[in-house]
Amino acid sequence: MKANCWYGSHDVRVEEVPDPKILNPRDAIVRVTATAICGSDLHLYNGFIPTMYQGDVLGHEFMGEVVEVGPSVNNLKPGDRVVVPFPISCGRCFFCTRQLFSLCENSNPNAWMAEKMFGHSPAGIFGYSHMLGGYAGGQAEYARVPYADVGPIKIANGLSDEKVLFLSDILPTGYMAAENCDIEPGDTIAVWGCGPVGLFAIKSAFMLGAERVIAIDRFPERLRMARESCGAETLDYEQVDVMVALAELTAGRGPDACIDAVGLEGHAHGAWGAYDKVKQLLRLESDRPPALRQALRACRNGGTVSVPGVYGGFLDKVPFGSVVNKALTIKSGQTHVQRYMRPLLEKIENGELDPSFVVTHTLSLDDAPRGFEMFLKKQEECIKIVLKPHADKPAVRAAN
Ligand code: NAD
Ligand code: ZN
Ligand code: ZN
Repeated sequence: MKANCWYGSHDVRVEEVPDPKILNPRDAIVRVTATAICGSDLHLYNGFIPTMYQGDVLGHEFMGEVVEVGPSVNNLKPGDRVVVPFPISCGRCFFCTRQLFSLCENSNPNAWMAEKMFGHSPAGIFGYSHMLGGYAGGQAEYARVPYADVGPIKIANGLSDEKVLFLSDILPTGYMAAENCDIEPGDTIAVWGCGPVGLFAIKSAFMLGAERVIAIDRFPERLRMARESCGAETLDYEQVDVMVALAELTAGRGPDACIDAVGLEGHAHGAWGAYDKVKQLLRLESDRPPALRQALRACRNGGTVSVPGVYGGFLDKVPFGSVVNKALTIKSGQTHVQRYMRPLLEKIENGELDPSFVVTHTLSLDDAPRGFEMFLKKQEECIKIVLKPHADKPAVRAAN
């Protein structure tokens, strides 16, 4: 089969690789009909996540049709249409039974690598380094899905791939980011980053009762989408001083909660931007956290800073004094996707939510390298790219 493989910094290639096979009784094989490129993939593409090996198959946002199931998968059968959550979770361990699926303690066979980095290991993740399990990802014609009796959610009606695909990651991620803010009626929430995760965080903050959401980025098309499709007020950090603007917009008190939907490759002008770039180049700092620094400083006293943005290692000049002296709460995590798929699917089914608005480009899997470059550089006003691995082939089975 064909798959999009990692070869190094700024080097991904669509190649022929062996077809996936059922290895364990709880596995399923899915024929991927749609998969997407995520901001998290850029951290791999830019070489910031260790333990990627040449030839690793990328992709953790995917859906498709079940073509084969292992003997212990009783809830799925060939022909079922499913969306697959990005954390691989057994459903039975200490963490899974507490709905903390991205912390599953059974799904990372390379836990020792992650323990070196983080102290303890999170769950395995599709297409996201050997430290997180070394699983082949879903930017491919087919994928092996472990614990298929737990993770994948069946899509029983005729909703388009574009409407349900993002249940695999970014929609639950934006939702959990907002839920972590413990929003109360009347709250003002600030969101750094108007990529797909930021946009879904804005939408979710309103769904959870926020009165105002203030969104921060520098790309006009992303700020426009935050305003026009999500109802946020926006700040272009190249035009205004974000700290001053947020204070002014909140009568000096600061936002009730702040969401960092930027993560480890934050961009900044001036001295701070240069500081992080140099430290990162010299390997004195692994992550660039300008958004997190601002979020911690801008948040009102007693507020919450929610961090869906991925950080991988070690951050410098993080104002932890703001956390203590302003009595802030910090919440974060890889998303416990399985917890949110069903309730969010219901919102899509009843028409309350249509996540497909973020899709700006649909490409064939062969165009994945071009897609990565376009998404990295935010060219062609690109916000979210969907890849179709079988675009040029007839469906295995007529849709019904
Ligand atoms: P993206 O690259 O499309 O969006 C990031 C946005 O941040 C860009 O629009 C960029 O202009 C903006 N930005 C950069 N520096 C900024 C700054 N200083 N202030 C304000 N905005 C700034 O990526 P995405 O797909 O939206 O993902 C965002 C983050 O969420 C990534 O770190 C990704 O890894 C992470 N993520 C986490 C999870 C999870 O489970 N926690 C899941 C999916 C994605
Ligand atoms: Zn993702
Ligand atoms: Zn588990």
